[in-house]
Amino acid sequence: MDIFEVLKKEQVVAYFSMEIALISEIPTYSGGLGVLAGDVIRTAGDLNIPFIGVTLISRKGYFKQVITEDGFQKELPCEWDPEKFLTPLPIEVSVDIEGRKVFIKPWVYYWTAYTGYIVPVIFLDTNLPQNSEEDRIITDHLYGGDAAYRLKQEIVLGIGGFRVLEALNLNIRKYHINEGHSALLTLELLKKTDGRPIEERLETVREKCVFTTHTPVEAGHDKFSYDLVKKILGDFISYDLLTKFGGERELNMTLLALNLSGYVNGVAKRHQEISSTMFPGRKISAITNGVHSFTWTSGSFRKLYDEYIPGWANEPELLARVEIIPDEKLWEAHQQAKKELIDLIYSQTKVKFDENILTLGFARRATAYKRPHLLFSDLNRLRRVKRKGPLQIVYAGKAHPRDEEGKRLIKEIFNYIKELKNDIAIVYLQDYNIDMAKKIVSGVDVWLNTPQRPLEASGTSGMKAAHNGVINFSVLDGWWIEGCLEGVTGWSIGPSPKEERSIENHLQEEIDDLYNKLEYIIIPMYYNQPDNWIRMMKNSIGNIASYFNTHRMMKRYITDAYFRRI
Ligand SMILES: *Cc1c(COP(=O)(O)O)cnc(C)c1O
Repeated sequence: MDIFEVLKKEQVVAYFSMEIALISEIPTYSGGLGVLAGDVIRTAGDLNIPFIGVTLISRKGYFKQVITEDGFQKELPCEWDPEKFLTPLPIEVSVDIEGRKVFIKPWVYYWTAYTGYIVPVIFLDTNLPQNSEEDRIITDHLYGGDAAYRLKQEIVLGIGGFRVLEALNLNIRKYHINEGHSALLTLELLKKTDGRPIEERLETVREKCVFTTHTPVEAGHDKFSYDLVKKILGDFISYDLLTKFGGERELNMTLLALNLSGYVNGVAKRHQEISSTMFPGRKISAITNGVHSFTWTSGSFRKLYDEYIPGWANEPELLARVEIIPDEKLWEAHQQAKKELIDLIYSQTKVKFDENILTLGFARRATAYKRPHLLFSDLNRLRRVKRKGPLQIVYAGKAHPRDEEGKRLIKEIFNYIKELKNDIAIVYLQDYNIDMAKKIVSGVDVWLNTPQRPLEASGTSGMKAAHNGVINFSVLDGWWIEGCLEGVTGWSIGPSPKEERSIENHLQEEIDDLYNKLEYIIIPMYYNQPDNWIRMMKNSIGNIASYFNTHRMMKRYITDAYFRRI
């Protein structure tokens, strides 16, 4: 039976996200937010939850990254072919933008879990002949254009997406707003309660909305001036209501979602604390992120788990039984994944990595707070560290086209690669995507993460690494505060989050810790104490992967957000 007929009989959770990373051929994602959304869809399928995703079609994708020999990032278009992957739905809705009617066509991708269950994901498209030229491109560029362009996209996503679900006649249990971009859907809901007392209206809307925030800094929240809002959104809703819930001086999408959602959560315990101080007096809960275990486990580890821990993929808590796997089998599976990464590195860069050399990995969006350059703070110190045993390092990551600092950092890494070429083999792979991410997180020995605290709301790449027995070495921020047992599941960099430091002391402490642990703990253990090393690989799987997965996370959303009375 058609999945929409099945869903009509259910109470469905509708998950709205500006980006959803389903497969690498659909390049409508830029980083962790989209990958998380993809893992949510995959898990909803595994667990057979009545669920539907809503996102934009982003016909021009994010972008294809090419990096010149000197480290300059070039952004090439990354057009994809929706007809190849999506099915058009025979409905059409419209929204009002700048006084024009803008028509929206929904397409659907049928995500099919290996259990056979299906989760439809709606891709909203304004590229229609009946729209004006300028409206046809609204759903072209992910995070492209100016504030006006972004607001138009958010109208299509929040209001247009809402109307598509109505046209499909679905009975929605909850609207899950994944980051503020789709928050306008709360106003569409509010409008439907017109004529009733405001308290009652509020209660009705809040009962339907769940909001997950991902941004631990005020500056990261999506905001629009009311001049712009009036120009583009017109008289969609009264100015009184808009300013009451969306902010006095400007429309703040985080605030809007926060005010009109009955359940609000941050994506790690630390992030919940930070968000609660940003919005005092509001109840913000914590559901720590996870990753989809099956997706992020390499072929060799899948085989190993299938043999020793059957049922692990749909019940990843079973990975706590990792002890049952013989050490040499675990090492074999790891070396297999490492060889595959080494092949990928060779095919892209013609640099030959050695499978017997300790390999560090660092791959994520290239942006200032992630500090990809922290490892190179003192090159002579790094050369000294490396006398304890050889090192290889693999980097990857795209900078947003308008993130000049992010692009500068890529260039800076390229300079270090040249300066260190006689000491350490370092490569920067181009065009990071989810397929490459899987190869890197599973093929290195140590996963390095050096964000500026407290800006890493959660982070998820380290969880992917742990699923493959790769050991985390990271600043104590986001999820790692909950995942790190020093010397057991991995290693920390810098002071504990409870310790207060001035910024300069803090930075020096992080740099010292990074080099000291590499020199005196990590390199010696890798080369001289293989049993201890494998013990820590197993702890990564047994203590981290068994918990930091989206099966655990989705069950928390179900019990805390989707089903609990508010
Ligand atoms: C997992 C993933 C991310 C997120 O990485 P973080 O280190 O958690 O920021 C970003 N991009 C891609 C392609 C990923 O697979």
